[in-house]
Amino acid sequence: MLRNFFLTVILLTGGCLLQAQNREYVIVVHGGAGDVAGLESDPVRSAQYYAALDSALSIGDRILATGGEGPQAVMAVINYFENNPLFNAGKGATCTADGTFELDASIMEGKDLSAGAVAGVKTIKNPINAAYAVKTKTPHVMLSGTGADLFAAEQGLEQVDNMYFATPKTMKWIDKLKQESKKNGTVGCVVLDKQGNLTAGTSTGGMFKKKWGRIGDSPVIGAGTYADNQSCAVSCTGHGEYFIRHAVAFNLCARYKFLKEPVEEAADYIINVELNANEGNGGLIAVDKDGNIAMPFNSTGMFRGYLYKEKGGAAKEKKVGIGKTMVSIAE
Ligand code: ASP
Repeated sequence: MLRNFFLTVILLTGGCLLQAQNREYVIVVHGGAGDVAGLESDPVRSAQYYAALDSALSIGDRILATGGEGPQAVMAVINYFENNPLFNAGKGATCTADGTFELDASIMEGKDLSAGAVAGVKTIKNPINAAYAVKTKTPHVMLSGTGADLFAAEQGLEQVDNMYFATPKTMKWIDKLKQESKKNGTVGCVVLDKQGNLTAGTSTGGMFKKKWGRIGDSPVIGAGTYADNQSCAVSCTGHGEYFIRHAVAFNLCARYKFLKEPVEEAADYIINVELNANEGNGGLIAVDKDGNIAMPFNSTGMFRGYLYKEKGGAAKEKKVGIGKTMVSIAE
């Protein structure tokens, strides 16, 4: 499989890339933004991330190709990331200052603006499933802490001990909390499905050494996640406080809808001008209602990938990247 990664290499800057309209379906994923210096030049470690991004896209592709709906694809992709210790979500999540794990997740559907989120949960194996349950089974948008854990248990969602989320790597951090972590890897997925509906989802362990029940942007609808069929589906990653202050996910949809900016232009402005001026580090993935994609970041890298199929055509385009370079994967 890895040989496919090296078929074509295209250099891209910031938000890239795609002008075409009329896509039958589109899936875009991220596995977090941050300092990836060194990783790209390490063939063994980078291949693990490329392979994980490739697998995530294939999972979404299988669902969307057969007419599956956006939420199904977004949840399956995010479950895959949550169960993969490479990423800062679910197993592999970063730890709090107390050496425990508090996870956040959210999901939103653009067809009716329905949304669900959980924040600061400690025992739900796959927080995105709990976010979806909040959306579909309650009149609320966000549940937090113990109440959210209890709700998920009542819904029959798989529960785990808090230390399930630890990995040998995070155990080392817990042992030496004084050392700054380089771990980035919040995960996200945005989808335009065959029905023409947009869906966005995000899941994270949050920021390393977070204190006092801190909640970032990932479960905040409008900050870390947003979807509206009249504009875009967006999932963010980075220093959450800045993404909340700038209401980044909604901001992008608003620029697209009211200023009529193309998705790439709006995304690039928010990440590389607005957030950059305020030292807000991170990036986002977005797809608009016509299937155009944006993936800007102002950090040195962002684990990311996309796959789309044109209407009426058989061919699919699939690319993954870590730093500035995107790599084509043959389908
Ligand atoms: N945005 C997440 C948070 O602030 C962290 C990340 O994306 O790395 O909790």
